[in-house]
Amino acid sequence: MKKQKEEKKDKEKKVENNTSSKKDIIKLPAFITVKELAETLKASVSDVISILIKNGVSAAINDTIDYETAAIVALDLEIETKQEKPKKDDLVLDAKKILAKEDKKNLVDRPSVVTIMGHVDHGKTLLLDTIRQSNVIASESGGITQHIGAYQVKKNGKMITFLDTPGHEAFAAMRARGASVTDIVVLVVAADDKVQPQTIESIKHAQAAKLPIIVAINKIDKKEADPERIKKELSEHGLVPEDWGGKTIFVPVSAKTKEGINNLLEMILLTAEMEELKVNPKDSALGTVLESHIDKGKGSVATILVLNGTLKPMDNFVIGEFFGKVRTMDDFLGKKISKATPAMPVIISGFSGLPQVGDSLQVVKDEQEARIKAAEIIKMRNVKKISPAIKNKPTQDKKYELKIILKADVSGSLEALTESLGKIENPEVAVNIINEGVGDIIESDVFHASSVGGEILGFQVKVTPAARKAAKQAKTKITLYKVIYELIQDVKEKMIAFLPPEIKEVSEGKLKILQIFRSGKGETILGGKVLDGHIYKNSKAKVWRGDKEIGQGVIVNIKKVNKDVKEVKKGDECGLNFRGIKPAEQEIIEAVKEERLKRTTSL
Ligand code: GDP
Repeated sequence: MKKQKEEKKDKEKKVENNTSSKKDIIKLPAFITVKELAETLKASVSDVISILIKNGVSAAINDTIDYETAAIVALDLEIETKQEKPKKDDLVLDAKKILAKEDKKNLVDRPSVVTIMGHVDHGKTLLLDTIRQSNVIASESGGITQHIGAYQVKKNGKMITFLDTPGHEAFAAMRARGASVTDIVVLVVAADDKVQPQTIESIKHAQAAKLPIIVAINKIDKKEADPERIKKELSEHGLVPEDWGGKTIFVPVSAKTKEGINNLLEMILLTAEMEELKVNPKDSALGTVLESHIDKGKGSVATILVLNGTLKPMDNFVIGEFFGKVRTMDDFLGKKISKATPAMPVIISGFSGLPQVGDSLQVVKDEQEARIKAAEIIKMRNVKKISPAIKNKPTQDKKYELKIILKADVSGSLEALTESLGKIENPEVAVNIINEGVGDIIESDVFHASSVGGEILGFQVKVTPAARKAAKQAKTKITLYKVIYELIQDVKEKMIAFLPPEIKEVSEGKLKILQIFRSGKGETILGGKVLDGHIYKNSKAKVWRGDKEIGQGVIVNIKKVNKDVKEVKKGDECGLNFRGIKPAEQEIIEAVKEERLKRTTSL
């Protein structure tokens, strides 16, 4: 039976290949090298490369490109393509998908993972420290102050895991890499302040990830604290408190005096219960890298958050593009442990090279499998892609184009930025990311920007002195940002600045035509009475017959009691020289003024 099926497939394949003419749809894999693509499309490698360059991708013959990029090349050659069904064994692992396939009877509850977000100075760091100090069992903690990226506390016999890199940038960077480890977001808002841009940005991130939000109204010990105002402001952003009939839990706390902290932890447990967080601890382990660094004694070490299964010493694994075997494993207190269950943060060693934050750790059967998987990941990592901003915006049909070169500190934030920029829509202006990269802004970035008439935006990076000098000479604009939200806002404003001002007509005054004295050569001399407002000499004017506009003209002269005047106002009787359409008695002349309004289109 199986054999028959294979034969059938083979036949189909042959038929496909035999008839491949330009009109056929060619199937391409998710990833393909430039050379393979050229062969498949029956084009020359140099043609493929030049089409890629035209689309902002610089790739060499052996570089790998993704399907979407390959499809654009094919389209340029007038060849239609379709993506082959991806292989079952995906390299990027999604714990949720894996768990969905598990037999329900093997699943047990796991602790929840919490991220604290909010505006700067609203007390995220102090809140994390206070929770940690008051809830990690004193004898265990032994004054340990090391931060490894996460810690766990026990409340009512249950564990809660806190990610201890506060703020949404780390969260966004992880998500941009496809890693979603957080279950609940605690949004910290200082009661003596108000909802701030980063508060709103945090809400958006949590909502985009479809995560429940618990609001911690912090600093309630301060005499200026006004929790009700925070509730009101957050309600305007969709977070309506339960006691106002909404669904969001608000907990007043003080990270300083510890007031309300127990209540906050209880609310986290309650929310976690509703989320039904299940795992199979018997499975082979799957985890995410929270932090990594080189330790003098141990070499590469990483903090892993276990997502599913149980991690044990001597387990073979692939981590990012590296592979290894668990040599040492400590919990967040620095204590050696022999197994790590889901939602536990652990520090492990036993691999070479530094994986990136958000990389997956996957336990595999043996070292050989680990090697193969690591090699595949390296291949995937080197994939050249068309940036989402370019992909989503064919710039040909836009009138204006904002060309930018984007530099960021880490690949996670770069991906988060390109993704957000790719989502900005405007019918007239396109954002075109000419180039993007990780690292400081260097001289070649300036040359690149000035050659295309673009500007440079840097996120959490510096500008080298040489680049600064070059930018001054080339008059290339460089702007640096520390907050993602500000960069995005600024891009939107730059886009709006491209748009010509909107022209609005404002009515200045109306006159009823009582008598036509003379008419000819496009000019009419008439007498009338001003019904409303003012009529000024040289104004543009419309002629109304009833409620229908019949045409336009210009008021070239005004006479009042036989004297030339510059204006007449309501109640005045006057004579007008009107150039334009021919008006008739009893019609209305409306003088209008053009106002140039700055575009305020919100993007
Ligand atoms: P982050 O930027 O959100 O991490 O804020 P921090 O945790 O660094 O706190 C900012 C400032 O607010 C620090 O000076 C803290 O000591 C102070 N702070 C934080 N929480 C409280 C609180 O509950 N009450 C008072 N009075 N001060 C607080």
